[in-house]
Amino acid sequence: MKAVKELARAKINLYLDVLSKREDGFHDIKTVMHTTTLSDEITLSQNGTGKRCVRLVADAERWLPTDQRNIAYTAAMLYMERAGIDAEIHIRLKKKIPVAAGLAGGSADAAAVLRGMNRLFGRLMSDKLLLSLAAELGSDVPFCLLGGTALCYGRGERIERLPEGLSLSLVIAVANEFVSTPTAYSELDRLYSDFSGKIEEHASELDSLISAIRTGASVEECLYNIFEDAVLPQCRGAARLKTRLIELGASAALMSGSGPSVFGIFPSDALADAAAEALRAEGVVAHSAKSG
Ligand code: ATP
Repeated sequence: MKAVKELARAKINLYLDVLSKREDGFHDIKTVMHTTTLSDEITLSQNGTGKRCVRLVADAERWLPTDQRNIAYTAAMLYMERAGIDAEIHIRLKKKIPVAAGLAGGSADAAAVLRGMNRLFGRLMSDKLLLSLAAELGSDVPFCLLGGTALCYGRGERIERLPEGLSLSLVIAVANEFVSTPTAYSELDRLYSDFSGKIEEHASELDSLISAIRTGASVEECLYNIFEDAVLPQCRGAARLKTRLIELGASAALMSGSGPSVFGIFPSDALADAAAEALRAEGVVAHSAKSG
């Protein structure tokens, strides 16, 4: 049986601002996303039974759904539906990206399944078509399909790619706290009065960040995430982790997405490895990673 393997890479947000609340209840955001080497591993294989179905086995530290509630499952079904394929697809998901942590683990899995399905079936779909399927699956999925570094608008699905070459030594750590993304948005609405009259106060950080990415200058001074205002006052563990990353030698630390993951940028891979090890010894879920 032919099998293909794909890595599903976690993203971090180097910059994340919420610009407005839309009439449909969603928010318009502006974010710079960056993929890392912290990855789930996805193996796909097919049985030509003539019946369209997906069997998903998840190897994860915590329970994950293995039916249509798992976005990797939905991505495989959507691909078969659009390509007119009836097959039994086996997905093995080895989960390493912390779940519900602001690292887009689910979106990365969905994107990896789309890539893998297209390899398995001899590239039936163009890159453009795959991107449109990705957008149907979720707002972060198109970015996860492309990877690298990109400025994303709208709900995150409108993508302007930025030059490659940014090479960061990272520690990604997750506090043992739960953050509900809808609650984090509601708290932002409360803090910023539904964004009425809010101007882009942090636009200069974004300009500096993009220029640093283009020129290869350091990005540490230009990081920003508006969700820190809404989440860190409640998630004291995530706030402490930010401080701890700096104590351990990070030149900058920021929450990713709506948290509770926090990443630190270190001067070298060796220092990042040592810091991740120190955090794990303190009982924290922590991974060293690189730009990927
Ligand atoms: P984002 O950064 O895009 O907001 P996240 O990292 O916060 O995403 P995920 O790890 O993608 O969140 O998980 C969010 C929810 O999606 C979880 O509650 C989980 O049960 C569900 N889920 C469905 N499929 C998956 C998957 N393949 N991996 C992880 N979570 C999944």
